[in-house]
Order: sequence, then structure tokens, then C-alpha cells
Amino acid sequence: MQAGVRLLDSDDGRRFDFDPGSFCLELLLTGGPVLVQRTELLRGPGDLTEWIAESRLARVAALDDVRVRPSELRELRDFRDMMWSAARTVAHGGTVEREHIDWINDSATVDLSPELDAETRTRRWAAPITGEQILGAAARDAIELIGEHAGRVRECGADGCALLFRDTSRPGNRRWCSMRRCGNRSKVKTYRSRRD
Ligand SMILES: [Zn+2]
Repeated sequence: MQAGVRLLDSDDGRRFDFDPGSFCLELLLTGGPVLVQRTELLRGPGDLTEWIAESRLARVAALDDVRVRPSELRELRDFRDMMWSAARTVAHGGTVEREHIDWINDSATVDLSPELDAETRTRRWAAPITGEQILGAAARDAIELIGEHAGRVRECGADGCALLFRDTSRPGNRRWCSMRRCGNRSKVKTYRSRRD
């Protein structure tokens, strides 16, 4: 599976693939006020190291040598919880709170730097990668998302599904978190209501 596309567990125990379409929205899948995964996935720095290796950031360049301090992890989790609120507001056409805008802007000042590996001539993120840089990457992504793609931030159209994504489809008509879950359920529902 492509980095940044995540396998999630459905309530009926089945797994489905979900592409959140943006790094800061991918971060929401690790826990927070709307617990998609029901549990906190980022309990310790090692959890973040593992999680980040499969993230959208890995599409751009390799992430070697990630070093996260516990305080940085706490800040990232707080940022994520704030982003749940900010992204949901955007998805519903609302105005993001001033306090949240300031939080995003303040977090965006530190970023990952790309570099060339001298041996392989391929791109990688300059190591060591810190928790502060990962937070910065999420904040920069949030600036792009809210500043340029607010109209494409969506909440899944199914009742009771709170998954948020950036619709990157060309026609801009993505409605579901995943065709394999909510898309199919909706099709079955429509079919049944037509039949009845
Ligand atoms: Zn859904």
C-alpha cells in the first residue's frame, strides 16, 4: 500500500483502506477527541517513529533516524487534538478559531529539510529528524490545507462516520472515507430502499 494510505478497523471487525489526502489529516488517525482507532496510537516516542515511517512524508523522501522527545510527542498530540476541531470546522464551512490559527502559525516555523544522499543521489529528509520538525510539517500542511484547499476538506458522508479527508479527486466528488466501507454501505442502503 502507498505510504499515507492507512488500514483502519471498522466496527464490524473488517479492515478498510483510507486515504486522508493530506498529512495533517493523516495525523488525526492516531487518536484524539474523535477516536477513530478508539485508542491512542502515539503512547511513546517509539510509536511515532514507527507511524511516521508509513506516513505521507515518506512519499517525498526517506525518513531515517527519527528522534522524538516525550515533550515533543505531547505537543504533537495536543496539536492533533486541536486539528480535529479546526479541520471539522473547515469541513462544515465554518471559520477556524483565531486561537487555532495562531497555534498552527507558531508551530510552522520549524520544518524538515530535504537533502541528497551523497552515495545514492536520492532524496531524503536530513537526519536526525526531531518531533518539533514533524509538528512543523503537520502545521505547514495545515496552512496549505486551510489556506488553499478549504473547499476540498470533507467529512465522510455516512451517518456516524467522522473521518475527515482532503478530496484530491479531479472532479472533486469524493463523498466517502472509503468505498470499501461507507461507500458500499450507502450503495446497499440505496438498493434496499429502492427495492422496498
Ligand atoms: Zn466513512
